[in-house]
Amino acid sequence: SDEYKLVSKKWKVSPTTIDLGDGVCIKDGDMAIIAGPCSIESEDQIKKVIAHLQESGIRMMRGGVFKPRTSPYAFRGMGIEGLKLWHELASAAGIKIVTEVMQVSQIEEMYPYTDVYQVGARNTQNFNLLDELGKVDKAVMIKRGISGTIEELLQSAEYVFSGGNEKLILCERGIRTYERASRNTLDLNAVPILKAKSHLPVIVDPSHGIGIREYVPQMALAGVMAGADGIIYETHEVPEKAYSDGQQTLDFAQSARLADWIRKTFEMR
Ligand code: PEP
Ligand code: MN
Repeated sequence: SDEYKLVSKKWKVSPTTIDLGDGVCIKDGDMAIIAGPCSIESEDQIKKVIAHLQESGIRMMRGGVFKPRTSPYAFRGMGIEGLKLWHELASAAGIKIVTEVMQVSQIEEMYPYTDVYQVGARNTQNFNLLDELGKVDKAVMIKRGISGTIEELLQSAEYVFSGGNEKLILCERGIRTYERASRNTLDLNAVPILKAKSHLPVIVDPSHGIGIREYVPQMALAGVMAGADGIIYETHEVPEKAYSDGQQTLDFAQSARLADWIRKTFEMR
């Protein structure tokens, strides 16, 4: 098929390793854990999350400073100033930053403070954004589109890869189906299929995948067993008070336990 080529295993057999420096990698045969709040909210919040991650041996922190909110009246993020503050605190702690870029104009201003650019599910087919990220020398994690097929995700990755940026990570975060008992339908089928079709690392986001806090741990572990190279999930000191996605966010005790379970499950795989 000429729908995608460079991201396929037919083009490159050996798995692609994403090296973020300081011994932090996302790669086949390893288990990356990325945890943090949905939104970056304050200096105090950042410090508390970092302390929790350090205690749990987690080296990658997620969080949005530019938030794609369904309602324009919801919290839209701290913006670039929030990212600068976060970077100062995270880099001092040896923690890498995974954060969403929403538009082309943000790429350059974010660059010095970002380790992995996240392309959100609402932007998976923003082809201008993908083209521009193809010119960047920094890792990009592309989330599967809200109603996107596996093939479309690979084609989005092809945009970035063919633009010259091979530092790509694929993320299954749930798709929209007729089911309303969960926020999204986490398509774990995508994990072995993506791993078979592509040399790129695949990570699973159980938080957005199911959208219900109590069920995030088991879906994370299911993702590990499905063959994921990493798990990304949301955590906050007081999930009920989070500015966004509190209903699917783990508190620090739940997060510490989950990180442990992820590692143990991975060892059994
Ligand atoms: C997020 O990671 O907080 C987010 C908005 O994710 P998605 O794009 O998968 O909805
Ligand atoms: Mn979120």
